[in-house]
Formats: sequence, C-alpha cells, structure tokens
Amino acid sequence: MTDAIKARLYVTDALSAGGSVTLAEDQTHYLRHVLRLAPGDAVALFNGRDGEFRAVIAEASKKTCRLDIEAGLRPFQAAPDVWLCFAPIRQGRIEMIVEKATELGAGRLLPVITRRTQMQKVNTGRLAAHAREAAEQCERLDVPEVAAPVTLEKLLQDWPQDRRLFVCAERSDTQSLLSVAAGTGPCALLIGPEGGFASEELTQIMALPQAVTVSLGPRILRAETAAIAALAILQSARQN
Ligand code: SAM
Repeated sequence: MTDAIKARLYVTDALSAGGSVTLAEDQTHYLRHVLRLAPGDAVALFNGRDGEFRAVIAEASKKTCRLDIEAGLRPFQAAPDVWLCFAPIRQGRIEMIVEKATELGAGRLLPVITRRTQMQKVNTGRLAAHAREAAEQCERLDVPEVAAPVTLEKLLQDWPQDRRLFVCAERSDTQSLLSVAAGTGPCALLIGPEGGFASEELTQIMALPQAVTVSLGPRILRAETAAIAALAILQSARQN
C-alpha cells in the first residue's frame, strides 16, 4: 500500500469525508483489471458538485468495489459558463471535439443539425462517456453535459437572452474572436459543418441579437480544429 493517488474517477454518489462509495462493474473492472489496483490503493473521486476527495479501495470483488472516502482534496469549482454548439462530424473526429472541448473547459456540448450536416445521428451516450474520461484525465471537477442534438432552428428559437453567441464564420472579414471574447458572462461558440453554414442559415443566426460573427484567422479550419482553436482563444481571453 502506498499513499500516491493511482486513478481519478467520476462518480454520481454524494461525496464527503468518512463516507463510502460502491462502484459499478465497469469502473471496478477499470480499477482492478486495467490499472491493477488492489485494496489499500488510493484514488481521487469527483462528482461535479461536492469537490474532489481522496478515497481508498476498502473491498473489491470481481464485479464491485467499495471505496472509503478519507479527506477532501479540492473544493468544487464550476467550469466556465461556455457552451460549444457544433454541427456533428464523422466518427473519430466528433470524439476529438468532445475530448478537447472537455479539456478546454466547455461547460455544455450541444450537437446542432444544420442544412449541410452530414452526420445526422449522434450517439450522445458514447460522447458522454468520452467527456467523462476526458474530465477524469484532465483534473476537471465536473463533466460537461452532452446535450441531445437539436436543429439550428430550435437552437435559435430557445436561445437564452443573457448568453452571447460567437458565430465562427470562415471567409468573413469580420472581427477576430480574440477581440470580442473578454468578459465573464455566459457565452457560446457556434461551429458549422464541413460544408459551412448556408447563407440563409447565417441570416437566421445573425437575426439573433445575442449573435456576433467572429473569425478564427485567415485560413479555413476543419470543424474540429475550429472548435479547439475557438475554445483555446476563449480560455485565454477569459483567463479560465
Ligand atoms: N466548406 C467551408 C468552406 O470551404 O468555406 C468550410 C467549413 S469549415 C471546414 C467548418 C466550420 O469551421 C465553419 O462552418 C466555421 O464555423 C468554422 N471555421 C473554419 N475556419 C474558420 C475561420 N477561419 N474562422 C471562423 N470559423 C471558421
């Protein structure tokens, strides 16, 4: 037995010093058979609301594992109030968007079906699992929600009044995202599909008072590059 924390896990149970958590089969398998941890080994637990806690494997069987929570490691701190709205792209690349957006602190990931979106079906459960793994790895204290896909019309119709929408549009000689990204209020990025937004869609989007068109530079970026670059710019401008 050593004191070092050997893994970090997201759980849904309440966390407090002196409590305990029982893991389901998949997380038990990960600890026992992938990481080869045993009773006495320490792990970090977080649940998106109570902070991060050190826990020790107390009992482990083939299918389940009990962890005793010892002490708080970090108090909860919410992720920046930044949403990433993106047109789904093909398998492999969409997971990259979810993973990198989680690392870059996005609070909510919203797949948006636009006219030129090629991938109309989105496996939100699989993407949510990617978000959870990325959050475990990058030491976030929460996991971003992966919302069910919505059409662009529905997204705009329900858009919250107090949330700025940075619409990433290539080929526009518009202001840079960096020049308008500062501030701490709720905001979102909108990234189009591989074929870009249709001009009628851009007209619809820009009718929203909260929408601002922004450029990510002179080159045309792939959708996943655009999402990552835009989040990195926001993180840097908002210093979170
Ligand atoms: N087919 C489009 C074209 O050739 O003009 C390119 C679409 S691009 C692959 C996918 C999305 O990434 C765009 O809809 C936009 O949201 C974003 N994007 C790519 N490059 C960008 C840039 N330089 N500035 C702002 N947004 C960009």
